[in-house]
Amino acid sequence: MDFPDSEVMDSDLSTIVDFNHINSTKSTATSSVKAGISSTSGVHELLECPVCTNSMYPPIHQCPNGHTLCSSCKVRVQNHCPTCRQELGNIRCLALEKVAESLELPCRYLNHGCSEIFPYYSKLKHEQLCKFRPYNCPYAGSECLIAGDIPTLITHLRDDHKVDMHDGCTFNHRYVKSKPHEVENATWMLTVFNCFGQHFCLHFEAFLLGMAPVYMAFLRFMGEDSDAKNFSYSLEVGGNGRKLIWQGVPRSIRDDHRKVRDSYDGLIIHRNMALFFSGSCRQELKLRVTGRIWREQ
Ligand SMILES: [Zn+2]
Ligand SMILES: [Zn+2]
Ligand SMILES: [Zn+2]
Ligand SMILES: [Zn+2]
Repeated sequence: MDFPDSEVMDSDLSTIVDFNHINSTKSTATSSVKAGISSTSGVHELLECPVCTNSMYPPIHQCPNGHTLCSSCKVRVQNHCPTCRQELGNIRCLALEKVAESLELPCRYLNHGCSEIFPYYSKLKHEQLCKFRPYNCPYAGSECLIAGDIPTLITHLRDDHKVDMHDGCTFNHRYVKSKPHEVENATWMLTVFNCFGQHFCLHFEAFLLGMAPVYMAFLRFMGEDSDAKNFSYSLEVGGNGRKLIWQGVPRSIRDDHRKVRDSYDGLIIHRNMALFFSGSCRQELKLRVTGRIWREQ
């Protein structure tokens, strides 16, 4: 089989960063007050915390004047109502909690295509798993807060991360690194493949497995886990008459990049073996990784 050949040079070595997206919490209390409730749909607005604008869940708190706020904001406002500055105390708003119980609301990803309706208190649980929720950017190696649907992420990866895009279900990549001993935990390379009308992310990286420096290659599917299972892939790397072969199932990009890595769900090449595959000099890493993606029947 004739593979298209391409070469990936490792040029951007970034230091390790925490991929966990920083939860931007609004710490300053605003004093905006919602205007009067004019319709039944306004009940939804009543359940929006005036400080953080998130939906409120029990325990919902109120000040002696009846201004409500959510429990996570309550601990941040130093016992003073953000609306009227009265001392807060510890008053629950049971009536509002009961009203919430009787509400049915559309999924917050209605605009993304989810048409389901849920009781107020189970809505949040659904939204955490809703298949219409945006995907996080699959690029590893820098902290990226972009989220969106797959077409948005494809454009983002190509334009903002300058990721290589390939059409086809076979690949033949050469990974070259001139000083393989200098980097332990800081190499990420990503290539995106477009085949079967889907997109796949091929990750290649170096990290320490315990004390042992290793290289690892694995594939992630840009879509849901249930669809990822319809595909398989194989990776091969070798030299000097030896060969390592990995066959696996791509993981959904819903699974964090680091989670996949830490479960060793991919082709792992110990550095000594990688240098052996690279040729005689052992000073330069030159790995040829070939692979194929196919659809399971
Ligand atoms: Zn709040
Ligand atoms: Zn108040
Ligand atoms: Zn939904
Ligand atoms: Zn990104």
